[in-house]
Amino acid sequence: MKRSLVVASFFASGLLLVGCTQTSPPPPAASSTAAKIPLSAMPKIESAAVMNHIKTLASDEFEGRAPGTPGEEKTVQYLETEFKKLGLQPGNTDGTYIQKVPLVGITGTEAKPLTVTGKARGTFKWRDDVVAWTKHVADGASIENSDLVFAGYGVTAPEYNWDDFKGVDLKGKTIVVLVNDPQIPDPSDAAKLDPRTFNGAAMTYYGRWTYKFEEAARRGAAGALIVHETGPAGYPFSVVQGNLSEKFDLVTPDKNMSRASIEGWLSNDAARRLFKMAGQDLDALKKQATSRDFKPVPLGLKASLAVKNTMRTIESRNVLGKIEGSDPQLKNEYVVYTAHWDHFGIGPAVNGDKIYNGALDNASGVAAMLEIAHELTQVKPAPRRSVLFIAVTAEEQGLLGSMYYAVTPVYPLATTLANINIDGINQWGRTKDITVVGLGASDLDDYLRDAAAEQSRTLRPDPEPEKGFYYRSDHFNFAKLGVPALDTDEGVEYIGKPAEFSKQKRDEYTEHDYHAPSDQIKPDWDLSGAVEDAELLAAVGYRVTNAEKFPEWKPGNEFKAKRDEMLKK
Ligand SMILES: [Zn+2]
Repeated sequence: MKRSLVVASFFASGLLLVGCTQTSPPPPAASSTAAKIPLSAMPKIESAAVMNHIKTLASDEFEGRAPGTPGEEKTVQYLETEFKKLGLQPGNTDGTYIQKVPLVGITGTEAKPLTVTGKARGTFKWRDDVVAWTKHVADGASIENSDLVFAGYGVTAPEYNWDDFKGVDLKGKTIVVLVNDPQIPDPSDAAKLDPRTFNGAAMTYYGRWTYKFEEAARRGAAGALIVHETGPAGYPFSVVQGNLSEKFDLVTPDKNMSRASIEGWLSNDAARRLFKMAGQDLDALKKQATSRDFKPVPLGLKASLAVKNTMRTIESRNVLGKIEGSDPQLKNEYVVYTAHWDHFGIGPAVNGDKIYNGALDNASGVAAMLEIAHELTQVKPAPRRSVLFIAVTAEEQGLLGSMYYAVTPVYPLATTLANINIDGINQWGRTKDITVVGLGASDLDDYLRDAAAEQSRTLRPDPEPEKGFYYRSDHFNFAKLGVPALDTDEGVEYIGKPAEFSKQKRDEYTEHDYHAPSDQIKPDWDLSGAVEDAELLAAVGYRVTNAEKFPEWKPGNEFKAKRDEMLKK
């Protein structure tokens, strides 16, 4: 789920223009009045039904639902059976409920240690000092005497007039870059970050480590190493070390050969040692890197490193069911719901338990999606456009199932009106509000606001924008390609609970249960709030299926240009 620290999103291409501010007043809400039946007149979702799906999907019998395991077989079978029971039609045009997703699992190990020569000479310890891999679908990859260059934050962002590279040729070189996006102090208050540059404290896509590696590949670099720092990364080096276990990726036509040969991280201590060998100081370089005048700094050192891959390919599955639109003119247009079915399967035991049940992450989201599907099969009048429900695979491996659908869609993205994604649901009771990750991005927020008002509830922005959640769940793959996408999270104002309740529960989950075997149904779960959230998402999707026009990105949004271009064709 999007609270994930280790979610790796491997996006092969596409520069994102992130964080543009809105320049014109928002247009009026796009909700159509046509067939807009009030929320109170729509079929209700039963919390017991949601709970029953979670109980099954998160049971030990389903073995933690890892792709490519018997847990996948059980999960896919369950979803197909439930889709059929609901009366959903096969979501794929081949008459099945399945979209096959070819994945390659790569486990990289050190073949030759990171050795640095030149001004000084030294080696770095695998795992403790350096964590590296190759995305090349090959037996291995290496860098040999590759010039090391410090490239600041490794960012090119024309909309902020920012370019860390200044045209320096990086072909065959290895860049060393800082984590997060450039941390520019606010000229009027040095204690804060400048809200006009890289969105202040909120993380833009330029701050995500995935972006750094994509940019290194675009520059033709042979290698890219990120300097780890716990605060700006948002997680300790131990999380980075988790990358040394098997990682899945989509099998792309070029077998990822356009990526840099070596991608990886240096621990902060190792980076300091490296810069010292170069006669440089990390803190001084960091300071330089917060200026627009920054230019890449050749370190006068050459790096060599080799990794060896063990690979296996598996075919995982997205599970798709649809409600065909009732209007013959509009039924080839789609609203798409997504929720990832996968989790981590069986892994290292914690307190004697080795099944990673993923009850919240994301049996709960799939359960909610199934009951939204149920509701939308019952609603009268039936939706005019079609609704597609996709339980996607391999989110925990880097949003791979949704990426596969987005780049290989069953129905064209140009006729896909919206994506509504569910990753985790509220388990702690009713709230006065609902959180929208990336609030203000598209007209979908207006639909949600209208529906929420009918429950006397309000929308709230993401409380932790610095963590870049908008880029960390399945909806992002739709957004990135231009489809307006909505991702909500539980509210924070719990009815009848003290103000600190929400943060306390959230922190408890993050500390104890997140990506741990103890992510299980708890005796205190209360899905009354989740049901209200699900009814809102059902209403949003339903109203979009009946609307007079497509929902749009708000002016200034980083994905708007892509959508406009797509709809012109
Ligand atoms: Zn997760």
